[in-house]
This record gives sequence, structure tokens and C-alpha cells, in this order.
Amino acid sequence: MTGLIDTLRKLQGLDGEIAKLRAELDRWPAIIAEKRKDVDAARRTVEAKAAEIKAAKVEVDGIELMLKSGEAEVGKTKGNLLKIKTNKEYEAVLKEIEGIKAENSALEEKIIAGLDKVQSLEAALKEAKAEQKRAEGEVADVEKQARAECAEIETEVGAVGKQRDECAKGLSRDVLEVYDRVRIGRGGVAIVPVVDNVCQGCCMSLTMQEINNLIVSEDTLIHCRSCQRILFLENPAEAGYDVTEPEENPYENL
Ligand SMILES: [Zn+2]
Repeated sequence: MTGLIDTLRKLQGLDGEIAKLRAELDRWPAIIAEKRKDVDAARRTVEAKAAEIKAAKVEVDGIELMLKSGEAEVGKTKGNLLKIKTNKEYEAVLKEIEGIKAENSALEEKIIAGLDKVQSLEAALKEAKAEQKRAEGEVADVEKQARAECAEIETEVGAVGKQRDECAKGLSRDVLEVYDRVRIGRGGVAIVPVVDNVCQGCCMSLTMQEINNLIVSEDTLIHCRSCQRILFLENPAEAGYDVTEPEENPYENL
């Protein structure tokens, strides 16, 4: 029994190592996806800033057109001055020209403000592009790190897998099937010790009969009634169990 249990424990240790290595492999996609989120956010900022610049430029263009027609209006109205006969009319047209000029200078101010806005948006766009580049560089770095680490881990998985296969060769197909079934069903732990008469997998107390079965079992796997895990006693003699061989039957050879 000891040999079988030892082999199963060794197998479980190797399966545990493989599971741990695979968990390390599995964490990379989430890390990379998280980094890619930064790139996506930066790209969206770049797009938003570019759209804002476009809109601000369209607005400035519109005001420039208005200013042009305002300036034309001033010229045209000035031309009207020549046809005027009375002082009163002349004053009125001059006032009209002043009014248009005031509107034009308000438009000029708007254009300057609009151009300032475009300039600050362009600075923000430049910053957003730099941020996007930085985030893309970070993704590339993480991907490179992931590739290197994953290759290393894959090699390790291969090596431990070989040890596992070698170890599994020492077990019958039936035992392996039972072990695998319990391991998969019980979170990777198929074989557990019994300490102070208690299953260390689920904390259920064992009966003395079950303990005796564990002590004497030769090649039969004993399962926990509750969690179905394979049980073993670690150093039963040290743990205070009576492990003396039953006396030989004196009548056996008669
Ligand atoms: Zn149990």
C-alpha cells in the first residue's frame, strides 16, 4: 500500500506543479487585455481631440467668411457716401459704417479666440498621441515579457509533464482513472492524509473501522465517505495507531 500511496502523492504533487504553471500562463491574457484598454482609451482621446480641432476650424472658417462679407459691406457702404446729398444722410451712413466695423472687430476677436482654441487643442492632440504611443509601447513590452515567460513556463510544463508520465507508469489504469476523477471533481486534490481520525480534505471524522481499514489495506484505495478523496495515514505508528501484524494463524499450515 505504501508504494501505491507514495506514487499517488508524488503524482498529485506533479499535477499541482503543472496546474500552478498553467495558472501562470493563464494570467497573461488578462494582463495584456488590461494594457490594451489603455491604448484604446488613448486612441479614443486622439480621435476626440482631432474631431474637436476639425469642428473648431470649421467654426473659424465660418467666422472668417462672415468677416469677409462684413469688410465687403464696409466698402460698399463707403461707396454709398459718394451718392449722398445731405449732411444728415451722410452722418447716418457713417454711423452705419461704424456699426459694421464694430461687428467686424467682434468677429476678428472671435477668430483670434477660435485660433487660440485650435492651438490649445492641437497641443492636447500632440499629448494624446504621445500617450497613445507610450501605451502601445507598454503593450509591446508586456507582450514581449509574456512571450519570454510563457516559453519558459511551457518548457517547465513539458519537463514536469514527463516526470508525471513516468510516475503514472507505476500505476494501473484503474487507479489512474479513480485518481483523475477525484482530482478533477475535488479541485485538484485527490489524495489527503487522515490526521487525528479526521479527513484533511473535508474535515469529516472517520470511524475506527475505517481507520483499521486504512492500516491494513494493501492494494485497495480507501475513500472518504464524504468527499470521496483517497485517504492515507501518515506514519501510522508515530500517530499512535496499532500497526502490529496480526498473529499468524497457527492452524494455517496444518
Ligand atoms: Zn473527506
